[in-house]
Amino acid sequence: MSNNSPTVKFCNGQQIPIELHKVRIVQKLHLRPIDERFQAIQKGGYNTFLLNTKDIFLDMLTDSGTNAMSDNQVSAMLQADDAYAGSQSYYKMEEALQEVFGKQLVLPVHQGRAAENIISQAFIKQGDIIPMNYHFTTTKAHMELNGGTIFEIFTDEGLVIKSSNPFKGNIDIAKLQSLITQYGAEKVAFIRMEASTNLIGGQPFSIQNMREVHKIAKENNILMVLDASLIGENAYFIKQREEEFKQSSIQDILLTMCGMADIVYFSSRKVSSTRGGGICTNNHDLYMKMRDLVTLYEGFLTYGGMSIREIEAMAVGLRETLDETVICQSPSFIKYAVDELDALGVPVVTPAGALGCHVDAGGFLSHVPQKEYPAGALAAAFYIISGCRGMERGTISSVRLENGEDLLADVELLRLAFPRRVFTLSQTMFVVDRMNWLFKNRELVGGLRFVEEPKVLRFFNGRLEPTSDWPQKLIAKFKQDFGDSL
Ligand SMILES: *Cc1c(COP(=O)(O)O)cnc(C)c1O
Repeated sequence: MSNNSPTVKFCNGQQIPIELHKVRIVQKLHLRPIDERFQAIQKGGYNTFLLNTKDIFLDMLTDSGTNAMSDNQVSAMLQADDAYAGSQSYYKMEEALQEVFGKQLVLPVHQGRAAENIISQAFIKQGDIIPMNYHFTTTKAHMELNGGTIFEIFTDEGLVIKSSNPFKGNIDIAKLQSLITQYGAEKVAFIRMEASTNLIGGQPFSIQNMREVHKIAKENNILMVLDASLIGENAYFIKQREEEFKQSSIQDILLTMCGMADIVYFSSRKVSSTRGGGICTNNHDLYMKMRDLVTLYEGFLTYGGMSIREIEAMAVGLRETLDETVICQSPSFIKYAVDELDALGVPVVTPAGALGCHVDAGGFLSHVPQKEYPAGALAAAFYIISGCRGMERGTISSVRLENGEDLLADVELLRLAFPRRVFTLSQTMFVVDRMNWLFKNRELVGGLRFVEEPKVLRFFNGRLEPTSDWPQKLIAKFKQDFGDSL
């Protein structure tokens, strides 16, 4: 076992994820009594986005901008060189990107979606197509805004909830070939591969798959774009799951992945625990097509809409991505939670991926019709009984069609995010315990309906209510089983 092992073996043989860091600055949390949690979710319209963190015990909404920073990142922020142009801080970040991604030309942007705006404007023409393993919400919006049509060509395993496929984020090569044949290579703006495919459970792709995609791209003279927002975790899974790379360093794996992409972009909110983002390439022509859009939309080329302090922290955070003990933290805690829940019979997306533990609300609440939003109901119920906030990733996150019906989501998921180095093992055990209790009492959970439904991105600000008095019944059972315990 290497020194970088994220887990240790206990006497009973169990592999336990271990925190390879110590806590030096802490934030006080509150675990409010269940009656107060009930009031809070009513006030928040049964939408976990509308909760106030003062009422939340573990905030598992997202990993975006919520990873813990290291001591080195915080101290780097104090050294920031404030300058509109030519800041030393920027050059440190540029050097870190050259080292970590192996790309020499760098464009800074204020966050991931800004990179998507610039890449889409520079390379997508009306009527173009963009094949990809799976979309991310902001990616799809920017590409469609620029006249492109996206094609999600994940393999058939991609959406299977319970699976042992190690690379559910792979692109289906046959589907890619037939898209190119059907539309012609000149209609393909670029092929996009997203590391640790966010919306299908943080699932990675393999280098073998990327090589096959790359070969087809080169044969057809098509650009390859890599969304590297969750690249550290994808590289970690490659090392764990792909035979050829068992002995490789994370740096070698990152360089191999990035080496196949013409353009690499990322949200620094995920990859390095700070706000910000960037676009990198080794191709001067591609760089020039994007450069002036950065000054137009983001800012001068040595800050790109970011604060200099964040740029300093980002440079350090990017280098920390090369450290297996850092990038293993989130995946090893997720794996612990997923394996425990799976063993208890609670339906979860397997194998464990990056970003979070994804509970299959469709299977969990099979008695709640999809148009009564099982994933939203599960998110609300789980908050009531645990004080933990997850994110609905199901039909509430989808849209209402012209005919007034919901566009039902492919899968109804409750995502419990594990931001890097934020939660401890006993907190993780609490999540597993309360989810197991909820599963045993699942028949008490009912559906939700909208009382206030925004036209766009309704999941952010929409307000709902329960379709019956199920929350009261759930709370009564909780009090019966747990007494005064929180
Ligand atoms: C979060 C994310 C983005 C968008 O990044 P922001 O910094 O939130 O704008 C793009 N792609 C992926 C895969 C992401 O996870």
